[in-house]
Amino acid sequence: MTRGWRLSVMVAAAGLCMVALPILAPANSDDDTKPNGKGMGTILNPGNGNRDAGQAKGAKPGGGGTSNGINYHGGPVMLGTVNVYYIWYGNWSGNSATSILADLADSIGGSPYFHINTTYYDGGANHVTGLVQNRMSANDNYSLGTTLSDTNIQTIVANAIGRGALPYDSNGAYFVLTSQDVAESSGFCTKYCGWHTYGTISGTNIKYAFVGNADRCPTACEAQTTSPNGNAGADAMASVIAHELEEMVTDPNLNAWYDTRGYENADKCAWTFGTVSTASNGSLYNMTLGARQYLIQRNWVSASGGYCALSY
Ligand SMILES: [Zn+2]
Repeated sequence: MTRGWRLSVMVAAAGLCMVALPILAPANSDDDTKPNGKGMGTILNPGNGNRDAGQAKGAKPGGGGTSNGINYHGGPVMLGTVNVYYIWYGNWSGNSATSILADLADSIGGSPYFHINTTYYDGGANHVTGLVQNRMSANDNYSLGTTLSDTNIQTIVANAIGRGALPYDSNGAYFVLTSQDVAESSGFCTKYCGWHTYGTISGTNIKYAFVGNADRCPTACEAQTTSPNGNAGADAMASVIAHELEEMVTDPNLNAWYDTRGYENADKCAWTFGTVSTASNGSLYNMTLGARQYLIQRNWVSASGGYCALSY
């Protein structure tokens, strides 16, 4: 990131915070590092997304420029009920992931876990509702091969919408879920296990994410290899999907909620699980959603000074 870029951001954002902090300008949130949507990192390389920029001027260890450790930067959040769409890319036939992760999307909305996101709001003080609906899914049979770029991920979403398999939905969270044999060349398994961003598709702002089958790299993307639902790849994806979904809801355009390091809410708690229990097969879990047990990372509560938690 260039110095000029940082300065231009400070100038552009100056109007937002001047009123609140006319004197304490050096400590305000204007120069927070912007998130790139890839801040979750991997088990071996946590918080990779913007770590090199984390030492920037104004960064405070362990928190941000507000008392809750995460700052609002003026952009929108996703309000009302957020609609989840899955695109199953590659070969998922015979894989229980399609059931395990559909059940997750069916049951995460309204849970005490997802209610953490109601501590986030927009410039009009409209709070995230914590409600989520699993709308529908589509399949993509390797339309762009087995090595995908970031641009390819948006194309996969655009194609699913364009052929009518999924609707245009500005309040949608679209997930491209790739099978084990598919690579994402910008750093799946080395820099991240998933990421989220947004793009304009036929004039609509579409929020989308990439999450690959963690079985491609268990040491990087699976917290455990024996898992609650007997599918280590899918169970690890559940935590990554939850991570990306809570970031999409609170920072859909990468200009709402993040801290001085560019960490969004879930980035601040990545790979931490809180109090765990042991399932009948010996695996660990920390929450029950619907009829299933999952091991899902904690999320950042933007209240009471800020903290990682499993519920709110
Ligand atoms: Zn993240």
